[in-house]
Amino acid sequence: MSYSSSFWEEDSFLKPYDLAIVGAGIVGLSSALFYKQKNPSARVTVLERGFLPKGASTRNAGFACVGSIGEHLADMKKESEKNIKRRIKRRYEGLQLLKKTLGEEAIGYEHCGGFEFFRSEKEFEEVVSQIDSFNDWMSELINEDEVYSKGELQGYPVIRNRLEGALHPGKMMEALVRKVSELGIDIKWSSPVQSVAENGLVNIENGPSLRAGKVLFAANGFVKRLLSDIEINPARGFVMVTDEQESLPWKGIFHHDRGYIYFRNIGDRLLIGGARNLDKDGEQTDQFGNNEMIKAHLKDFVSQTLMLGNTWEIDNEWSGIMGFSSTKTPIIKQLDQKRFIAAGLSGMGIAIGMEVGRSASSMIVL
Ligand SMILES: Cc1cc2nc3c(=O)[nH]c(=O)nc-3n(C[C@H](O)[C@H](O)[C@H](O)COP(=O)(O)OP(=O)(O)OC[C@H]3O[C@@H](n4cnc5c(N)ncnc54)[C@H](O)[C@@H]3O)c2cc1C
Repeated sequence: MSYSSSFWEEDSFLKPYDLAIVGAGIVGLSSALFYKQKNPSARVTVLERGFLPKGASTRNAGFACVGSIGEHLADMKKESEKNIKRRIKRRYEGLQLLKKTLGEEAIGYEHCGGFEFFRSEKEFEEVVSQIDSFNDWMSELINEDEVYSKGELQGYPVIRNRLEGALHPGKMMEALVRKVSELGIDIKWSSPVQSVAENGLVNIENGPSLRAGKVLFAANGFVKRLLSDIEINPARGFVMVTDEQESLPWKGIFHHDRGYIYFRNIGDRLLIGGARNLDKDGEQTDQFGNNEMIKAHLKDFVSQTLMLGNTWEIDNEWSGIMGFSSTKTPIIKQLDQKRFIAAGLSGMGIAIGMEVGRSASSMIVL
């Protein structure tokens, strides 16, 4: 006889869940947290394919940011002003929710300020002319005055955003896992979901099938593997961290080239990442790995533009997988009677991930 579950297992571990969530990133875990707070008696599980979260939430740059003016102006070429304003407000409020829920210390938050960095006066002029209107937007949207101001760092023109900061994504996710576990939510690591049927039957690779009253897909850049019709495309992001520098002049979080390149300090180390726009098609993948052309570009940027010369080395490098919706607005919706989705964080998940989880949890009724 082949292996089958016991009567006891069926009556305990394998009892049907009220809610099963696929993916233990910031969205999946936040959805579980808010759902369980609202429904304390509910039986909730989060199924994660990795031994750790294995997507973007522990592999990002840790920018707690609302986005640079250059990024918003680029988005405005494709989207309405109303959408961009909604996004800025969502990012700001999402960060407040994250800090309030987990605590600034627990997530390693540092209020260091954000800078949009320009290599030339010409690039700068196009954006700096918009400072006044963006400051007006900020007053209107979030009641904060004089958010942006122009300045200079190491001879380069910059626009400072006084509201932005940096956090430690590993600590943030550890704190979230702790909070979720304390509520009695069952996180199952190393449990890759193979398929989820319309009737709520969840099949786990090399594992048992679980029954769930409701299922939420929170697998962001990988969700297409489970729901092929969903309009969310994967996008790989590359990051590297240097060894400690004697006197690193770059302190804070920095955005460059419409947000495509980003860098920050971690103590006396420099973290730099992005530049996926150099090979957008090649980077539209859910496979981890690096692109030598992008890496070479970032290395050159560190040595030449950021003037670290050739006295530095890479201590860590990695990639993470994001999920982009066609409009950069996440998809949070009910798919059918039992299945729901919250995905397509479009590279902004530190800022909006917890709020997206909270919205997802409120559309699922016990
Ligand atoms: C390099 C990089 C830098 C970034 N920098 C920033 C930044 O500075 N600021 C910012 O706001 N955002 C940043 N982001 C974006 C941010 O990290 C993401 O938007 C956010 O983490 C998405 O969260 P998520 O929970 O939706 O997805 P994820 O964190 O990817 O979580 C999805 C989870 O689902 C799991 N999963 C997938 N398929 C299955 C399956 N079949 N069965 C079980 N589990 C499955 C994955 O293993 C993963 O753990 C960055 C992203 C990257 C990659």
